Formats: sequence, C-alpha cells, structure tokens
Amino acid sequence: MQYLANHGYKTLSLQQFMDYMDNKATGMPEKPILLTFDDGYADNHEHALPILRSLQFQATLFVSPGTTEDGYFLNWEQIKEMHQAGWDIQPHGMTHPYLPKLAAKDQNYEIIEAKRQIDEQLQIDTNVFCYPYGERNTTTLNVLKDNGFRYAFTIDQGMTTRTQDPLLLKRIFVNGEETIEQWISRLENKNAKATK
Ligand SMILES: [Zn+2]
Repeated sequence: MQYLANHGYKTLSLQQFMDYMDNKATGMPEKPILLTFDDGYADNHEHALPILRSLQFQATLFVSPGTTEDGYFLNWEQIKEMHQAGWDIQPHGMTHPYLPKLAAKDQNYEIIEAKRQIDEQLQIDTNVFCYPYGERNTTTLNVLKDNGFRYAFTIDQGMTTRTQDPLLLKRIFVNGEETIEQWISRLENKNAKATK
C-alpha cells in the first residue's frame, strides 16, 4: 500500500470504478487503482482497515455472509464498521462454494441470498460479484445477468480493461508468497503493456 501511495496511484471507490468502466467518469486520476479484498478474513479489520485509513485509500470487500459467525471471518459489526469507513461491500457467494459444481437453483441461492443479506444489513443495492475460487460456468453468468449484476471479478491475471466482458474482469493478484519486488514488477509491467 505504501508503494502504491508513494508512486502516485489513487484508489477508486466502486462507484468511480463503474463510472470509469461505463465511460462516464470525469476527473479520473492518472494512475487509478481499485483495491479488492476477497473472503472477508477477520484480519482485514485488524490490519487492512487501519493501514488503508492512514493512507486515505478506498477498497472493495467481497464477503460470504455464511461465514460471518465463525470468528475466522469478519462479523457483521466489523463489516458495518468498514462500510462506514468507506469500504464498498459486495457479495462473494453465501458459503464460498465451487459454483460450477452446483445445480442452477443452488447457484442462484448462493448468489442471490448473499446479495440479499448484504443489502439488508447495510441498506445498499449490491450489483458487483466476485467468483469464489474464480470459478464460474454459463449458469453462473446467467444468474448474474438475470439479477442485474453489472460487473464480476475473476482471478484471471491482468489489468482490468473496458474491453473485457464486464462479468469476466481480470485482476492483478497479490500473492503473499511472492516478494514485494516480484509483485511490483508484475504491476508495473502490466501497466506498461496496458498503455501501449
Ligand atoms: Zn474467495
């Protein structure tokens, strides 16, 4: 995060990101970045929240409401605190399943019940999804389309661009087993390619 701050990256809110993707953003920073966190581990509240707050960074958090009571993941009180601190909260399935292994009605439940619970808890209208394990099939895409989801994130590697299918957006993974130098080189190489 310090590297991003020191090198002129500016984080976007999810709304700013969607405006950019919809080609109606004004005053975009030169080096925009959307920080996304998957799963909602409890340490996101303990570590990421204060770090991002100190840098005045925005982030988007994808949570599975079925995990909010086991202590290992964020509970609703922590999620609400992060939401109030400016984090965007969006669904990541109810129980973090391998969606393609599920029948259509079960995929529908995983996606729609996760959306419903987040919307109810936070009084928002979520419409961005993140595939657990990055896994999806045509049923998954149809459930998202049928229920008004605008964008969905995979774990396919690369910069997000407007030319990608909005339900198959790429991301640059932060791998805890990599050195910071390896991550920086992937980040900056991808930037170089995207601007050519
Ligand atoms: Zn996940």
